[in-house]
Amino acid sequence: TAKDRGRARFEVYRPDLEAELERSAQVLDRLNEAYRDGELRVHYQPVVDAGARRVVALEALLRWEHPERGTLSPDAFLDVLESSDLIHGVGALVLRQACDDAVELLVRGHRLAVHVNISARELARLGLRGDVERILAETGMPAELLVLEITETRLVAVNGSLLRDLRALRALGVRVAVDDFGTGYSALTQLVELPVDVIKLDKGFVSEIATSARARAVSAGVQAMAAGLGVVTVAEGVETEQQAEELAALGFGLLQGFLFGQPRSMVDWLEELAAGRGGPWELRSGTHGGG
Ligand code: C2E
Ligand code: MG
Ligand code: MG
Ligand code: MG
Repeated sequence: TAKDRGRARFEVYRPDLEAELERSAQVLDRLNEAYRDGELRVHYQPVVDAGARRVVALEALLRWEHPERGTLSPDAFLDVLESSDLIHGVGALVLRQACDDAVELLVRGHRLAVHVNISARELARLGLRGDVERILAETGMPAELLVLEITETRLVAVNGSLLRDLRALRALGVRVAVDDFGTGYSALTQLVELPVDVIKLDKGFVSEIATSARARAVSAGVQAMAAGLGVVTVAEGVETEQQAEELAALGFGLLQGFLFGQPRSMVDWLEELAAGRGGPWELRSGTHGGG
């Protein structure tokens, strides 16, 4: 049991750590069942053009439809998932589903990119490139509609073989986005070297942009650097009209956040898009603090 393992490994008796190991082992068991039973699903959140205010892409976000606890976000289980090789199966499931769904949208006349989050463990495993190429071929997904999101902290530690894989995928048309940008303390000079097409400003800056001069300065700096590098920018976590307008004024080309929509199922999206509700999102005047 996890309890025995915990005792063998740690010299000092630490009940909190044991309990944690026990919990992780239980969550992992349940995750394996969830994966097998089809409880792991993909929801999509819109990425909106800051000017036209229309949806241009969808970010695939993993959800666990837990029979007792309802819909769970990755916060509740991603650490456990990423500590196990199960992440490879789940990662492939998300990628395949996202590509299938993007093709289905395309067939119906909605040409939207899909963003898929790739975890550190998936990147560390040799074979990501082969997996992506195979899934593109099997689903008929145009490579240029796929965006792989990699968090900043992981991207700055890329090694030679991963760099080669990312370059090869980019040569096919797949794009690479740096997620949670601004949280990883990467030197700007490093970023210049990396195969990156999109930078996603972390929502921590976005939430403070209307109130903090510091957050504003960082956001402006990120945008200026991205523009200089010819890299597209997305601001994440946009919740208010004021934030949207300030970010657009700074030059952010794409916006994502609850202001434009929560993550929702593909069934919902097919309905929304068929009904023409993929934008334009109106400017909501009256939501300003006075600017
Ligand atoms: P992320 O990739 O940075 O995704 C954005 C997160 O912010 C999502 O949380 C989204 O629901 C949330 N969000 C969006 N708009 C707003 C907003 O206006 N305000 C606030 N406060 N939050 C907003 P979610 O879905 O819980 O996902 C959390 C993280 O889990 C993701 O962060 C991503 O790093 C990871 N993740 C999600 N799906 C997958 C997946 O399929 N594979 C892997 N490896 N990681 C995933
Ligand atoms: Mg992401
Ligand atoms: Mg993010
Ligand atoms: Mg994240």
